[in-house]
Amino acid sequence: MEVRYVSSGIANRFENHIELNEHLPEYPELHDAILKHELAHTDTPGFTKKDFLLDIGPSRVNYWKLFKFMCIYPKTFMQFLPFYKKGNTFFYDINLCIVWGTIITAIGLSAFFSMYL
Ligand SMILES: [Zn+2]
Repeated sequence: MEVRYVSSGIANRFENHIELNEHLPEYPELHDAILKHELAHTDTPGFTKKDFLLDIGPSRVNYWKLFKFMCIYPKTFMQFLPFYKKGNTFFYDINLCIVWGTIITAIGLSAFFSMYL
């Protein structure tokens, strides 16, 4: 699997390569844990239960160290965008769309019930 280092986001798995943030090699512990996570993803485009559980389930990544890394390199926060455009190509992350959809639905339902109940 080819690894390309990019300036924004943290890590993304594509069908034929993996993108990692260009600053991750300076943090070997984070780099290795994140690369292992990306390698564990399937090559299937779109939604798979395995990929979804991998993203929301427990992980070996040290989230405190990851958070500090993200604060040093704020462009990593683009990782949380459910869809984005790079050049002329539109990308989306199905798992993030589900997570954001769930959060927005939960906020909408609580707003609705707090007004009408
Ligand atoms: Zn993932």
